[in-house]
Amino acid sequence: MPLNELKVVDYLEMVKERKISVEQVVKDIFSQIDKVEPTVKAYLYLNKEGALSEAREMDRRIKEGQRIPPLAGLPIAIKDNVCTQGIETTCASRILKGFIPPYDATIVKKIKEAGGIIIGKTNLDEFAMGASTENSAFHATFNPWDITRVPGGSSGGSGAAVAADETLIALGTDTGGSVRLPASFCGICGIKPTYGRISRYGVISYASSLDHVGILSKSIKDGAQLMNIICGYDSHDSTSSEVTVPNFLLSCREGINDLKFGIPCEFFSSEVDCRVRERVKGAIEKISNLGGKVEETSLHHLEYAVPTYRLIAFAEASSSLARFDGVQYGLRIDNNDDLEDMYLKTRGKGFGTEVLQRIIMGTYILSEGNYEDYYLKAQKVRALIKEDFDHAFKKFDLLVGPTSPILPFKIGAGKKDTLLADAYTVPGNLAGLPSLSLNCGFSKNDNLPIGLQIIGRVFEEEKILRAAYNLEVALEEVNKIRPNLSFNPIPN
Ligand code: GLN
Repeated sequence: MPLNELKVVDYLEMVKERKISVEQVVKDIFSQIDKVEPTVKAYLYLNKEGALSEAREMDRRIKEGQRIPPLAGLPIAIKDNVCTQGIETTCASRILKGFIPPYDATIVKKIKEAGGIIIGKTNLDEFAMGASTENSAFHATFNPWDITRVPGGSSGGSGAAVAADETLIALGTDTGGSVRLPASFCGICGIKPTYGRISRYGVISYASSLDHVGILSKSIKDGAQLMNIICGYDSHDSTSSEVTVPNFLLSCREGINDLKFGIPCEFFSSEVDCRVRERVKGAIEKISNLGGKVEETSLHHLEYAVPTYRLIAFAEASSSLARFDGVQYGLRIDNNDDLEDMYLKTRGKGFGTEVLQRIIMGTYILSEGNYEDYYLKAQKVRALIKEDFDHAFKKFDLLVGPTSPILPFKIGAGKKDTLLADAYTVPGNLAGLPSLSLNCGFSKNDNLPIGLQIIGRVFEEEKILRAAYNLEVALEEVNKIRPNLSFNPIPN
């Protein structure tokens, strides 16, 4: 087996037993990148020389018998809205083209300290605004399962890179579903822990009260392994939580017959594609067979989640993105009359259409006279959605449903699909709840991946991981199927 196809857990074991060299793994990854990247286009930047020299250095340390760090040279791809010292970080926006952060985000620092190696920076919808990775200012990313379709977004580059074995694991961010949706569309795992569990210092914000860091991986244990490294309190992030970080890998040890699963009926509305419905229901049956207690429940205000999310996210985005004005970072348009003219020209040219629309709407939502009608009202509905979850979690340990009501849609399909795709992921962000997407099968005939979402109480990631791991084992045959990557590059 080419080493780029390894799971993280197996990689770490093999490196520790000195069965493989880190350099060989990194080489296999870059030869896969050479082969499929012209078609998949998952990356915005590749750190080939850097990664190879770090790999050789790690091999040397291991050979000398030095202590092997926990990530032991693990190759990781990083979404390009996470600051990496000395490596361009663009948020897939022209406005940040040329921005080279002078520091690492806390998560990157932790990964480096644990011996991880950065393979490259992955593509995204500009400033993480989108659900398809078509909104990148540089190029779209294509779904490795069917290159006429989107990989989901906004962490579509990370999702596609993992699915196409162009890395062993990847980091993403999730403001309204951007880790879970690409995981679902690319047939892999995506976990977004509780708000505050992972530091966002150095992660360029889209909407601060909703932004989470998450992990895209080939298996549940792989995700748990990386969570052990990147979770935890950070004094640089005022929203970071001091709750103790358990060993997440241990949570994959037990069964699930003590767990109660609620199935919100709103997750099975008429909008759900019947192929998604069938597979998700099949997985829920498996949960029952594994001993989990399954019962229907309701989240009454779920239908308001998308409009509520959009009002809050756009309002916060208009404020977070105010800092990009041509003075401190990236692009600056010269040939202007005065300072204000420079701001206007830089922002007008630097941001893409989707971002501009959201900034304009966000500014409107926050303006005098509208604030109470839109922003405050949205915050009130957010509280109601949160109460629905609190109520459900009095009775249930976990809630389960489809990650997305629809299958990966065609490139260029337009707005309707991108809005629909968000419907079941945004509630988890509004309530700050940990949630995960796991592949639970494929559509008949066209073989497109389908994701199952598991949502838990705050800081109860362990139960989510336990349930997901048991299900992953039960679905082992399904998860053995890999995308067929023998396609020809798309002509430019
Ligand atoms: N699709 C959603 C949006 O466009 C969520 C994006 C995200 O999670 N970053 O806002």
